[in-house]
Amino acid sequence: MRYSELASIYEALEKTSKRLEKTFIISKLFKKTKEEDIDKIVLLIQGKLFPLWNETKLGVSDRLVIKAISVATGISPAKIEEEWKKLGDLGLVAEKLVTKKSQATLFSKELTTEKVFNNLRKLPTLEGAGSVDQKIKIIAELLSSAKPLEARYVVRTVLEDLRVGVGSGSIRDALVWAFFDKKVRVHYDEKEKTISPDNREEYNKLVDAVQHGFDLKADYGEVARMILKKGEKAFGELTLESGSPINVMLYQKAKDLKEAFERVGKPCALEYKYDGFRMQIHKKGNIIKIFTRRLDEVTKQFPEVIEYVKKFVNAKEFILDSEAVGFNPKTGKYLPFQAMSQRIKRKYDIDKMAKDFPVEVNVFDIMSYHGKNLLKEPFNKRRKILEKIITPHKKKLVLAKQIITDDLKKAQIFYKEALKVGEEGVMAKNLEGIYKPGSRVGYGVKVKPVMESLDLVIVGAEWGTGKRSGWLTSYVLACRKGDKFLEIGKVGTGIKELEEQGVSFKELTMKLNPLIISEEGKTVRIKPEIIIEVKYEEIQKSPTYDSGYALRFPRFVRLREDKALSDVSDISLVEDLYKGQK
Ligand code: AMP
Repeated sequence: MRYSELASIYEALEKTSKRLEKTFIISKLFKKTKEEDIDKIVLLIQGKLFPLWNETKLGVSDRLVIKAISVATGISPAKIEEEWKKLGDLGLVAEKLVTKKSQATLFSKELTTEKVFNNLRKLPTLEGAGSVDQKIKIIAELLSSAKPLEARYVVRTVLEDLRVGVGSGSIRDALVWAFFDKKVRVHYDEKEKTISPDNREEYNKLVDAVQHGFDLKADYGEVARMILKKGEKAFGELTLESGSPINVMLYQKAKDLKEAFERVGKPCALEYKYDGFRMQIHKKGNIIKIFTRRLDEVTKQFPEVIEYVKKFVNAKEFILDSEAVGFNPKTGKYLPFQAMSQRIKRKYDIDKMAKDFPVEVNVFDIMSYHGKNLLKEPFNKRRKILEKIITPHKKKLVLAKQIITDDLKKAQIFYKEALKVGEEGVMAKNLEGIYKPGSRVGYGVKVKPVMESLDLVIVGAEWGTGKRSGWLTSYVLACRKGDKFLEIGKVGTGIKELEEQGVSFKELTMKLNPLIISEEGKTVRIKPEIIIEVKYEEIQKSPTYDSGYALRFPRFVRLREDKALSDVSDISLVEDLYKGQK
């Protein structure tokens, strides 16, 4: 496919904020995409080069892009920076500057989506001496062939910031509109921006089937390719497979135990809510793989877990869900998540790390057993299987501590006990609940102490003064609305002066500095990337921030490097919490 076709689709998407219209535009694109291109197009339309479960990042900085634009256009980096200050988006800068040179290189080759995709996929493979120059060359080569509009989107794709607002729901629906049109005939009214499928029931079924395929494969590209190849038969073949990660089930929040009972039913299972990080563990024969909540593979980083799984889980094939909690091997004390996050990223000295910062795996669910898909089985049955195959070993691999009760008093005692031993709270789970990947269904709810927390992204900061000079301080926080971020307050409390005490100003400054978009006096704007968990005492209405809300007494709790931008707390949650306070 010519890249110019894709660029004009991006432009059309950017021009509308209406979800249905976006879906319609995407479905038209899918309809004319060939089988060999479909997986790439599905990724590119989301501004991605790799599926969700692949941890590869392009990791290209603004500076590098500026150099590439300079090489492609012959315009000096200083001039490009000047334009950047004016336009605030390097995509628009590239578009403008490429216009200027376009007469000069009339005969350059036409870009294809394949060329862009393949070139950009090379970027993360380049390492070591000379790799920066090679990266610049690869991007500059694309920009030299690009027409202005194409340049806009090449640059934004490179920076992993496409800004066309395509959610995964639109991809899912567009796949149905595009590939099952004959069966359900979706009529889209361009004026009214409404849809009406001929057969709503059938349409809903297909949407669910596509969603389910995605939950099992965590990649709409693969789902689309299978559908294009096999039609509806694809759904039977998009199955759960040990070794290929599935989207994890998420939980809602309940205000207290009484509400928890109301939501999940009585009796229910209550479990400790361990404060670590989620681990999805797969085994098939001798192969064991571990994935994080975001489905990044971390098998190599946790050799001790592989051993535990081999020794203490007595089955040949399965997929488990668990929470791994780090502890101090000398004192046996459990450690905050933050202390463990370094293990997730670690690429060397892994055995030493495993000794110094071991984890205890708390298994709480099983999704597949001996090749049998258990997603539709009731929770108590899944738990029984866990109890059968796991031989718990403290500080190694254990079953999540659980009671089954319909008695509020007993529940309260269990909850207090959980808090007393340092857990975050409890989970209450419906005994009949299925495992629904990827969604925040009400089959399980979490109950935590009153102080609420939000996951917010840092979008600005201030250079400190006095003993904090040289550090970024007072971080501007934002919640999410669709793919936009709305400011909701500032936080400076809870961050440490000294590195050995926890997350320090220095550490945050080092993370944020490369993400600075612009500076004015002491204030900087920061590209949304760093997500932190923030506790607060109250949410107030406020005209100061564009979310319309402000946090009272916000306090930094920890970095949430395990969360993605799509996990940043939504404005609707803020609104609900605000209403719930009264
Ligand atoms: P939150 O991250 O606040 O949305 O809480 C949900 C998370 O709690 C899950 O994603 C798990 O990582 C974690 N968790 C800890 N213990 C359990 C448990 N017993 N059952 C389910 N999730 C648990």
